[in-house]
Amino acid sequence: MKWEENVRRVIPYVPGEQPNQPDMIKLNTNECPYPPAPGVQAAIEALRPQDLRLYPDPGAETLTRELADYYGVKKEQVFVGVGSDDVLAMAFLTFFNGDRPILFPDVTYSFYDVWAQLYRIPYETCPLDETFHIRPEDYRRPNGGVIFPNPNAPTGIYEPLKVVEEILQANRDVVVIVDEAYIDFGGKCALPLIQKYDNLLVVQTFSKSRAMAGLRVGFAMGSEKLIRYLSDVKFSFNSYTINRPTLALGVEALRDEAYFREITGRIVATRERVKRALRELGFVFPDSMANFIFASHERIPAQQIFQALKERNIYVRHWDRPRIRNFLRITIGTDEEMDILLAFLGEYIRERT
Ligand code: PMP
Repeated sequence: MKWEENVRRVIPYVPGEQPNQPDMIKLNTNECPYPPAPGVQAAIEALRPQDLRLYPDPGAETLTRELADYYGVKKEQVFVGVGSDDVLAMAFLTFFNGDRPILFPDVTYSFYDVWAQLYRIPYETCPLDETFHIRPEDYRRPNGGVIFPNPNAPTGIYEPLKVVEEILQANRDVVVIVDEAYIDFGGKCALPLIQKYDNLLVVQTFSKSRAMAGLRVGFAMGSEKLIRYLSDVKFSFNSYTINRPTLALGVEALRDEAYFREITGRIVATRERVKRALRELGFVFPDSMANFIFASHERIPAQQIFQALKERNIYVRHWDRPRIRNFLRITIGTDEEMDILLAFLGEYIRERT
């Protein structure tokens, strides 16, 4: 068909499955196993259908201001989007606009190469070392921008801010994006570095540590200039990205600091316990600072374990890709969920030895 010549063809990102079975244990998309902050319930009850007649605030002022206060920056340094995927998509469009290839790790969030292809941004990947750590020296060559998650996904490995700064020092002339989707599970946020580096964009999300994956809120922080450019592109794309209910509920998720600390603390404690149990079962994995563990069994192929778990209604994530096809990414669920997983794995592995 002639018209097909003009079609923008893309190979889309494949999100984790969202099966809807009542008794499943869902450990495949790094969601939070606990409900959002209690204040969210009251905010839902306070929603008034008649308000939906009206467009939402295009600048998402209240949420932006609350985020700015929470993180101790100016509201002009905060940008809010529909999940961090939306923020990152806008950031790629805004900042990665040169002829040189952008750089990101070879094993990383598998949306980066999809956006690069969608926007026709040239890119090169930098291989992680054999322990899956970022090699900062790889980011010293000429490039059109840099992006990496910290902690990285799907490995869970956190790089200390010294490494982040080393990459920033070598990249003063391009935008460097640090995707901190999993920073609240033990890592240190790179935010203080924005004082020194006006080309640093820090991106975070409400989807993991704030238990709001279904709401879709993500945000970016950086210099006022960076945020202004990002905002200009957003307003050239869609003025009303954050809907009214989301604006109202989002602030509630941010206000309850005690609850936030409680659930992230609980997830970290469960993660550390699961690490010990998995090790005893013969799994090996990088030391995760995220809400998941990226594990490989010393004898049984990941694909087989993945299938067996699925048949037992336990969903984890597996990628048939170079370097990582023998790994499973297991989200940290509740203690009860992890006990069921561990009991199943214990039995499954025993039967095979
Ligand atoms: N960055 C990374 C590294 C992720 O793993 C995810 C979750 N898939 C996201 C960004 C996007 O999350 P969200 O759009 O829900 O904020």
